Amino acid sequence: MKHKWNTRTKLVHAGTRRSQYGEVSEAIFLTQGFVYDSAEAAEARFLEAGPDEFIYARYGNPTVRMFEDRIAALEGAEDAFATASGMAAVSGALTSMLKAGDHVVSARALFGSCLYILEEVLTRFGVEVTFVDGTDVEAWRRAVRPETKAVFFETVANPTLDVVDVSAVAEIAHAAGATVIADNVFATPVFSRALELGADVVVYSATKHIDGQGRTLGGVILGTREFIRKTVEPYMKHTGGSMSPFTAWVLLKGMETMDLRVRAQAATALELAKVLENHDKLERAIYPGHPSHGQYELVRRDMGAGGTVISLDIRGGQAAAFRFLNALDIVLISNNLGDAKSIATHPATTTHQRLPDEQKAALGITPGLVRLSVGIEDTADLIADVLQALEAV
Ligand SMILES: *Cc1c(COP(=O)(O)O)cnc(C)c1O
Repeated sequence: MKHKWNTRTKLVHAGTRRSQYGEVSEAIFLTQGFVYDSAEAAEARFLEAGPDEFIYARYGNPTVRMFEDRIAALEGAEDAFATASGMAAVSGALTSMLKAGDHVVSARALFGSCLYILEEVLTRFGVEVTFVDGTDVEAWRRAVRPETKAVFFETVANPTLDVVDVSAVAEIAHAAGATVIADNVFATPVFSRALELGADVVVYSATKHIDGQGRTLGGVILGTREFIRKTVEPYMKHTGGSMSPFTAWVLLKGMETMDLRVRAQAATALELAKVLENHDKLERAIYPGHPSHGQYELVRRDMGAGGTVISLDIRGGQAAAFRFLNALDIVLISNNLGDAKSIATHPATTTHQRLPDEQKAALGITPGLVRLSVGIEDTADLIADVLQALEAV
């Protein structure tokens, strides 16, 4: 029955566990541990815990398990492990499966902290990492070797919105026996079909669209039951990056409205992209769901829609970008994305400030680039706000 549910039904009901009180809204089990009826019962549970048996909140908790089961049902994954943040999910997925001597191929265009894990952390422990242009399938083919253990990419890269052809890269990786790990934040859990397209492991920062209301940090690793319970869980439960029950509850509530929010945000983003095409204050407007995007056909095939983020390259460099940001009335200057509130970010001076100028240039992070995360406000109000701020440039 449950596997036949469609997305919105799953987002409201999948994974729900009711206590003996039959509560309608999911309960928050704010408890670090659980009591055993006897010493023998404690011994038996440590040997093997049943599906409704918990030991310690770092290992698992009923509210956290509801979140894991709901997002796994949504993604069509066998299992999921919830983490304290998106970065705990990215670093946990990679470090739980890699060892010294392994080789990883990664797309170059990454969220700053993801780049830190690959460039600074993994290499310190003897993992070799090769970076490629994620949009170039031949570059992936040249870089993957027999000892390649994993490939890593953001399906839609931050902030330039380049898209990776998941099925083509998965085919190359699988031929070498490598695990495909996709950071799916920008594709969003609503539009992504990364597992279906061939990714073995999907990671999310739940801080973004899953909460979608700017309240909490969270993350999740999705994959086969074998990978989640045999590789990820032992690593995460012993290293401490587990999700708190309160966070899981916030995210369960966020998931109920996620499909409605994300579809409304994507619809407004597309309207904005249409209005901003060929705008005289812009070098270009980048939106994966607009025909002017170089990978529009790939986006249509794999995601069906362009997501909730649009990037604007404003003529006149940093000074012009700052004038635009400072003139915005509704859109907030901040650095989250996927939020109900529209948010604008200047990557070159904030999220990607740390990168040397050559690297920024290579990644397309120009001084005029502004990343706009489109919220759920009224579409006409948002378009008017962006247009008046462009006039102020
Ligand atoms: C935000 C983000 C992360 C990190 O998530 P946190 O919840 O902030 O730890 C990782 N990858 C991408 C693509 C992100 O946008």
